[in-house]
Amino acid sequence: MSYRVPTAEVLAVAISDVLREHGTIGSQRLFARFVQEKLRCLDKSYTATEERVRRIAIQNNLVTVEVETRDTGEKVKVGRCPVCDSRLRRVRNSTIYGGSVILGYRCTSCPYRMGTTKKVPTKYIFRDALPKVRCRAERKTTQRTL
Ligand SMILES: [Zn+2]
Repeated sequence: MSYRVPTAEVLAVAISDVLREHGTIGSQRLFARFVQEKLRCLDKSYTATEERVRRIAIQNNLVTVEVETRDTGEKVKVGRCPVCDSRLRRVRNSTIYGGSVILGYRCTSCPYRMGTTKKVPTKYIFRDALPKVRCRAERKTTQRTL
């Protein structure tokens, strides 16, 4: 049987359906499996890798993702986010001597962050981002009063 790669739009629809049904999914493998099942209802030959499901979900703001990481202890070279492939930005802190020191790196589009040693993702938790619109405003208000 030959496989077909669904377009990003088709994949995004399957992803939102899965998230609406499950709310929170505690593993990338499970998330991808649910999405693959959904895709096969549309077309038996559709397939999508775990990584593509994750990236499309994050890039389309369909999920909030929580990442657990393992510190490898290796020095970081600035590059791309291992979670969503966006650019990593340096987090700096000024020193009392007028210079600055790099504290770590953070992703420009997802919550991934690390110190000056490289961290690799070991576990993902995906949450439906759609009902969040209201929650996000609430959270902001809470933070302001704290
Ligand atoms: Zn990222």
